Amino acid sequence: MKKVIAIYGKGGIGKSSTASNVAAAAALLGKKVLLIGCDPKSDSSITLLGGKRIPTVLDRLKESPHLSKEDVIFEGFGGVLCMEVGGPEPGVGCAGRGIIVAIETLKKIYPEFMDNDLIIYDVPGDVVCGGFVAPIKKGFVNEVYVLTSGEYMPLYAANNICRGFSRIGMELGGVICNSRNADRERELVEEFSQKIGSRLIGYIPKDPVVQACERDGFSVLEKAPDSKIASVYRQLAHDLIGNSERVKATPLDDDQLRMLSKKYSE
Ligand code: ADP
Ligand code: MG
Repeated sequence: MKKVIAIYGKGGIGKSSTASNVAAAAALLGKKVLLIGCDPKSDSSITLLGGKRIPTVLDRLKESPHLSKEDVIFEGFGGVLCMEVGGPEPGVGCAGRGIIVAIETLKKIYPEFMDNDLIIYDVPGDVVCGGFVAPIKKGFVNEVYVLTSGEYMPLYAANNICRGFSRIGMELGGVICNSRNADRERELVEEFSQKIGSRLIGYIPKDPVVQACERDGFSVLEKAPDSKIASVYRQLAHDLIGNSERVKATPLDDDQLRMLSKKYSE
């Protein structure tokens, strides 16, 4: 089966930077990669395209119902193909619906898109939104990861996301820690991963190089290929590509999560 992955986690935790840097790293490992930005912010691919925003599928569909591949799919760093779903306007419409429309469009304009070695969906962070389950329910995604730091709220969101997965029978590929320099963060996220029945598959340190490159419109793989953090993303891309583990995650209850978090802040 082709690798079609999605990275879930609290808003602002680093889903887009992880998705884009992993996409770039996988491309440098020789993989054909397609990155599909599903967040209405449509910012998943900016750092693969030298800081430029690409027109979104939903915007282009407003102009014309007849799109071609060139209208919405753009080649970025390392040959990564980038598409942004876009919309809906804040306060109206459903992100889930938009994602479905965009992917149905993708199938029409680029029927061989599944020939890519790795497809990464960068999904919205908000669990209550229909955008959360749409890519999974529609069978677009076959492998999901949860991204969290060791801080309480991102962990709370990660746990909730796992609850969402278990409700819809989606197995978990693993947990990725994007560090915020919380106390004994790696151990905490490792224990969390084990407690829900999964494992920590990657640990990304907090590194100012990520934001410096982002500000200039690049991934760290392009702008700072010799940095430590670039190696971290290369390793993560390698490990995600090689990962075949899937587990039915069992979320913690609120008390268990609170106790776990407390244990590491003492
Ligand atoms: P999300 O997509 O989950 O909302 P983003 O990927 O947009 O989050 O990340 C939020 C901010 O955190 C961005 O400015 C990004 O550059 C920064 N960031 C993400 N990961 C790291 C990291 N490992 N080190 C430093 N900054 C990071
Ligand atoms: Mg994002």
